[in-house]
Amino acid sequence: MLTVFLGPPGAGKGTQAARLAAKYGSPQISTGDMLRAAVAAGTPLGERVDGIMKSGDLVPDDLMLEVVEERLDQPDCASGAILDGYPRTRGQAEALDPLAQRIGQGEVSLVLMLDVPEEEVIRRISGRREDAGGGGGRDDDQEHVVLERMRVYRELTEPLVEYYRDKGVLTEIAGVGTVDEIFDRIDAAVRENLSG
Ligand code: ADP
Repeated sequence: MLTVFLGPPGAGKGTQAARLAAKYGSPQISTGDMLRAAVAAGTPLGERVDGIMKSGDLVPDDLMLEVVEERLDQPDCASGAILDGYPRTRGQAEALDPLAQRIGQGEVSLVLMLDVPEEEVIRRISGRREDAGGGGGRDDDQEHVVLERMRVYRELTEPLVEYYRDKGVLTEIAGVGTVDEIFDRIDAAVRENLSG
């Protein structure tokens, strides 16, 4: 089964997806991490996406689909995966279901939307930038890039909340509180999904 994390930049998708993956022994597929690794390694994919990521924009859907498809085809995804960072557009979501079916995962069965107020995500990301100090941290955590990532999120990714709500697979999770508190909410939603 495929579980998808949705939520604005800085919502904590990566942190929570990693915990969920550890608890259930399912691979975590973080497209942001995969792309950053490609940039760091200087692969052809990395060269193509470097500038796009630095500006806070999205990598084109067709390229993302190739990246995700190649990853989901690996044997460790045979019994499912936790997706963190994909899908991010309507086109990506529409491409995911047939792909999930082809690899025997059925359709996406649980979408966890991490709800975090915008002021809070901006505060968290600036904290992440300050913690990293001068020169450290993610290139795309600079303030103007964060604002662009938020804009792109609202315009292209947020509509997926309705898309998945209409399909009856959306669960909203309050993304504020401690990491443990948020994880408990997520885990409760996952168990309910498994038992239902
Ligand atoms: P965020 O904290 O903003 O959610 P991520 O680490 O998930 O960041 O992604 C960082 C960047 O990688 C995005 O701003 C985008 O440029 C690129 N990216 C990651 N996943 C996707 C995707 N599914 N579609 C397009 N671009 C993506």
